[in-house]
Amino acid sequence: MAAFPSLRDDLGVMAGYHSAQVGVDVRLNTNESPLPPPAGFLAALAEAVAEVDFHRYPDRACLELRSDLARLHGVRADQVFVANGSNEVLQCLLLAYGGPGRTAAVFEPTYAMHATIARMVGTTVATGERADDFTLSVAEARRVFATARPQVTFLCSPNNPTGRVEAKDVVEEVLDLAPGLVVLDEAYAQFASWSALGMVDDELPLVVTRTYSKTWSMAAARLGYLLGPAPVVAALWEKAALPYHVDAVKQVAGRLALRFTDEMEERVAILVAERERLSTALARLPVTTWPSEANFVLFQPRSRPGREVWQGLVDRSVLVRDCSSWPRLDGCLRVTVGTPTENTAFLTALEAVLR
Ligand code: PMP
Repeated sequence: MAAFPSLRDDLGVMAGYHSAQVGVDVRLNTNESPLPPPAGFLAALAEAVAEVDFHRYPDRACLELRSDLARLHGVRADQVFVANGSNEVLQCLLLAYGGPGRTAAVFEPTYAMHATIARMVGTTVATGERADDFTLSVAEARRVFATARPQVTFLCSPNNPTGRVEAKDVVEEVLDLAPGLVVLDEAYAQFASWSALGMVDDELPLVVTRTYSKTWSMAAARLGYLLGPAPVVAALWEKAALPYHVDAVKQVAGRLALRFTDEMEERVAILVAERERLSTALARLPVTTWPSEANFVLFQPRSRPGREVWQGLVDRSVLVRDCSSWPRLDGCLRVTVGTPTENTAFLTALEAVLR
């Protein structure tokens, strides 16, 4: 019998990016929306699904969904690319613009999947460092660009897991300096005070990625998109995406969700208010926190190791993200903003663990 082939050498050394899926009452570890979509959306979706031609392939170019997203954001449909979650958007970008013999730049600490997906598709990763307060200095960007000449540069605003937005002037300077495409991951931008969406232009090597997983309460649907220059978008459709990669149910769900913008904005307002309540409460505890403009807060217990605090919370049926062993995040944990009840349960459990 033939043996299994060995795994690609470069994949064998990579650690996976997985958050524990343990059975707890309060799940605040993956930055999803704690609230389900509006009932009206679910009813409209059930009706629309009954109309789907299941025996036919879906619209390969997702034209109606892209037109609706273009209208929402004030761009053209040929500047919109959609895929199965923004992770797949990133993967398509790296398939098209990264790959063997090419380099992607990231500035740590940041969203681990930028480097992971880059490596998955054979891209060399050049790592720059953020300052101690997790801001990005233009000097560091300049250093990385000069040494690595990356084809793709990742920024993330607000940055996961630190919560900080990238300053607008830094994004502008990075765009000026970067030798290739700049990818600004805005998975959490609806929670923030600033977005680069308005900068998207056919003449500028900038793409901005977005997701339905957070504010749209649709993490289960796996739908993400990017806005960028039309030639980049065309290359992604033609060279990187698989045929019919976005199924018909998802296309219709993505369109229907956009009819519920008011409800979405209400949810964002609730979560932003809760984020401020959490931050204020954390500031009174023996933990260090960083200012967040996302739907999560990074904190570092001062009196006990992060891993022990994480376990103490799990023992009290509260799950947060354990970042304590990640580079530059020694002892840190990340809590997703949940419902008011969940946040109170988290704070009560954390106080008990730290006491
Ligand atoms: N970008 C960032 C910064 C994220 O935190 C996440 C979710 N963890 C994603 C992209 C991927 O989101 P999705 O694939 O669900 O759209």
